[in-house]
Amino acid sequence: MAQLNNLGYPRVGDFRQLKFAQESYWAGKSSLEELQAVGKKIRHDNWQTQQAAGVNLVPVGDFAWYDHVLTLSATFGVIPARHQSKDGSINLDTLFAMARGTTGESSEHSCCAPQSAACEMTKWFDTNYHYLVPEFSADQTFQLSFSQLIDEAKEAIAAGYQVKPVLLGPVTYLWLGKAQGDFDRLSLLDSLLPAYQALLAEFKALGVEWVQLDEPALVLDLPKDWRDAYQVAYQALSNSGLNILLASYFDSLADNQSLALSLPVNGLHIDLVRAPEQLKPVLANLPEGWVLSAGIINGRNIWKTDLRSAAAKLTGAAAQLGENLWIAPSCSLLHSPVDLDSEQKLDPTIKSWLAFAKQKLNELGQLKAIIESPSASESQAALLASDEVVTSRASSDKIHREDVKQRVANLTSEASQRYSDFANRIKQQQAHLNLPAYPTTTIGSFPQTPEIRQARAAFKQGKLSEPEYIAAMQEEIRDVVKAQEALDLDVLVHGEPERNDMVEYFGERLDGFTFTQFAWVQSYGSRCVKPPIIYGDVKRSQDLSVSWTEFAQSLTNKPMKGMLTGPVTILCWSFNRDDISRETCAKQIALAIRDEVVALEQAGIKVIQIDEPALREGLPLKASQQTEYLNWSTEAFRISASGVKDETQIHTHMCYCEFNDILPSIAAMDADVITIETSRSNMELLEAFNTFSYPNDIGPGVYDIHSPNVPEKEWMVNLIKAAGKRINPERLWVNPDCGLKTRKWPETNAALKNMVEAAKQLRQEQ
Ligand code: GLN
Ligand code: ZN
Repeated sequence: MAQLNNLGYPRVGDFRQLKFAQESYWAGKSSLEELQAVGKKIRHDNWQTQQAAGVNLVPVGDFAWYDHVLTLSATFGVIPARHQSKDGSINLDTLFAMARGTTGESSEHSCCAPQSAACEMTKWFDTNYHYLVPEFSADQTFQLSFSQLIDEAKEAIAAGYQVKPVLLGPVTYLWLGKAQGDFDRLSLLDSLLPAYQALLAEFKALGVEWVQLDEPALVLDLPKDWRDAYQVAYQALSNSGLNILLASYFDSLADNQSLALSLPVNGLHIDLVRAPEQLKPVLANLPEGWVLSAGIINGRNIWKTDLRSAAAKLTGAAAQLGENLWIAPSCSLLHSPVDLDSEQKLDPTIKSWLAFAKQKLNELGQLKAIIESPSASESQAALLASDEVVTSRASSDKIHREDVKQRVANLTSEASQRYSDFANRIKQQQAHLNLPAYPTTTIGSFPQTPEIRQARAAFKQGKLSEPEYIAAMQEEIRDVVKAQEALDLDVLVHGEPERNDMVEYFGERLDGFTFTQFAWVQSYGSRCVKPPIIYGDVKRSQDLSVSWTEFAQSLTNKPMKGMLTGPVTILCWSFNRDDISRETCAKQIALAIRDEVVALEQAGIKVIQIDEPALREGLPLKASQQTEYLNWSTEAFRISASGVKDETQIHTHMCYCEFNDILPSIAAMDADVITIETSRSNMELLEAFNTFSYPNDIGPGVYDIHSPNVPEKEWMVNLIKAAGKRINPERLWVNPDCGLKTRKWPETNAALKNMVEAAKQLRQEQ
């Protein structure tokens, strides 16, 4: 009898309970005990749901107060010196300080030195989740220092569950961290392993039998010394007395497959959604007695599984392995929304095609039944229902639009090229815009105040009429424009008050998208995103942003920057179709955005920003697949940007990007101006732009918008000077790292005032 395995369950709660509890605690509106009670309830509900669905061992350790990598760092005492307390104690406030930084005088946490910068945050593999990058010092030690993981295992056991602790494995943990200083972080492995041993011993003492060690780094193209580290690491952990399930996900093990199969562990999880081809060779080489956890249900998408095809894939494995076959989602359900049953407004046909985390667990059970007793009436009913979904999607006129398919098929290379090259365009743009040196701008959004959110919510609920809503937003835009004029910024924005989310907003106005009420997925900390679902061919059949931008422009003589989300980001931050390629879908969206860009130009907008913060995130994890992706994704961007005259200036924006390896593609996007996040890396990032001789204008972010700290003018002057050493100062723009929507007005005004003064000082010094 196969078992059901789950790698992790969403930690935010079905209605984002954790988010609200965190934010209320951070705002000083509720106590630590209240926050802890909310977390505890989520954990217990999750365990209950998973057990009810037949999951044999409920995962613990998948819950986190901010991020599971951060929890592990705290567990091992990996706390940067600036966040260490005098007595060495670590508590939730330590975690939050590391994640969010502290603001000096008004420090929320007395344990921390004033003005301690937040730890770096970066993308979790190719997902839209972000983790806190562990910071290792040269003399780093690792000791069990924070008991959350152990406490939660105890808590689940006490509640009567059989548990499987889920932890990031030692090699991936080191891989994801960064060395503070000139040393190889892999050299820390020997001192890290005893801490893992100690942690496993704690679990063993609790009577735990299985532990899941996540090693997603195994799907990457790893250097040899890192591959070798796996042997060392797992030898050291093999005497724990626990069974170890080694978990890989997000792609195929490929060249690391035989390595994984040679480790002294007791089972392996593989992602059969991203890399179904692994099943056969893994089955053929699976060591005697090992468990195979077959990740057959997509943990990152929302479509129901084609049960007939999934069952067919696993039949051989079931016969070979019996109870050592564990049927599982492809990866942790952290990346799935929680419960489709909460959705009351979805079109019933579309809803009938979907499955969220809770429903995916039920699919695991259905698959098991189909594999084990295919002729049982329940199995037959499940198969027929699944077949019906497959046929309905293949033929539905909700999905298929002939004109859109034709337009994509007829695309020529002309559609993805501006009329002239950058050198020519920039001259025309300078004449058209007349901007000073070091022009200042922002990335788009301004603080989203409670009033804005309330107005949007009221409009959505029908409590505010459309004219009332428009008036409220226009009032906000008026304020934002006034504020920017007072600050003397050069290129203004309307502030995006009408947008809850940069992708949802556009999806809501495009054909082929649908929306949920509660399909939230954690992005980082308390931030969740509610990705639209792209279910059909995409088309622009109404104005997306023109009326707001036009209104904003009417209030000022300075250039108003139109603000759009790019096709690749819309694709990457939506749930994608599994019936057409990502490339085709990206091009459909690109054509829709192109129509909007042209409409903005016709409305008199001279600068248009097409945000592509997700471009790098969509990059396949393996080098061998990256070129193809970069070709079509940059083409999609250019399709969206190339319908306008030379004098119209196209900006793009990216955040959290490590560009070194993809600079030729960034250049191939041919945006007139690119604004990027750099302040947290001290402009080091620009070295690559320098080496590559990146040709177009760049706005390297001069301050970190993720923290409420107000940067000093001098500090920004120095950063821009550092940038000027690597980039021709004539090409430089001055702007924050990203949008300001999560900030409050006082710090925003103070920071931008210093930023504009910094630019002015540099102009004087010229
Ligand atoms: N224009 C968006 C904003 O300012 C960009 C956000 C992003 O890059 N993630 O909010
Ligand atoms: Zn950004």
